[in-house]
Amino acid sequence: MGIVETQAVVLQTYQLADADKIVLCMTEKAGLVRGVARGARRLKSKFGASLEPFTLIHLTFFEKETRELVTIRGAEIVKSYFDAAGNSQAFEGLVYLLELVKEFALPHQADERLFKMLRACIDFLAQNPSEANAVSAYSELWTLKLTGFLPEFRSCGSCGVLLDDTYRGQRFISHEGVLWCEACAAGGAQPLGGEAYGLLSSTRRSGPDAWAQKYSLALEESRRVVSEIARRLVRRALEREPRAGRSSRAHL
Ligand SMILES: [Zn+2]
Repeated sequence: MGIVETQAVVLQTYQLADADKIVLCMTEKAGLVRGVARGARRLKSKFGASLEPFTLIHLTFFEKETRELVTIRGAEIVKSYFDAAGNSQAFEGLVYLLELVKEFALPHQADERLFKMLRACIDFLAQNPSEANAVSAYSELWTLKLTGFLPEFRSCGSCGVLLDDTYRGQRFISHEGVLWCEACAAGGAQPLGGEAYGLLSSTRRSGPDAWAQKYSLALEESRRVVSEIARRLVRRALEREPRAGRSSRAHL
């Protein structure tokens, strides 16, 4: 409580009456934070252009224990991705990335790894707009992992046999993302090729750049399967536990 200084990525802004603005940020030290910036819409605002989406800022805010909405005291641009967002592929990728973090991050609860993932993905995407699909799948898998929704990809969900690179049989994946060995695969399970498996299981060990490279070298079929699985797991995670239910405090 009190004054907090942290790095933050601006996710969304809303206009408020008069010259004020409501700003939703993913912060490094305090998770998802929604704050009011007084006078931010005035021409000569002290916030300048810092409170715009796709901007990494150094944020100072004041927080009261009883109030969900914080008061933004200061914001300075560390890095703006505004120009990168002018590219339509990068723009779509960035919008999706911010949306993903908005859905999964918890209000007022630090998640430095999620913040780090967000920063790394924005940076990479801004420089490699054509890798937007890879970044989306990567950020989906990481977000699921960091929020406890990513299934275990190492062993069979039924008998526990190791399904890593040493496994020679056919791997299967259920609709829920549970991996099965050949013997345990139940009806409706989808066969999972070795390359797609390699992509899914290596998310945990790679940064976005290395993973995107692996993704772009993979067969189109493998890329499609991995992207579909990642998107499906995100949808399931959001349906299973709506974000209001995951908040430690009242929903913003
Ligand atoms: Zn099995």
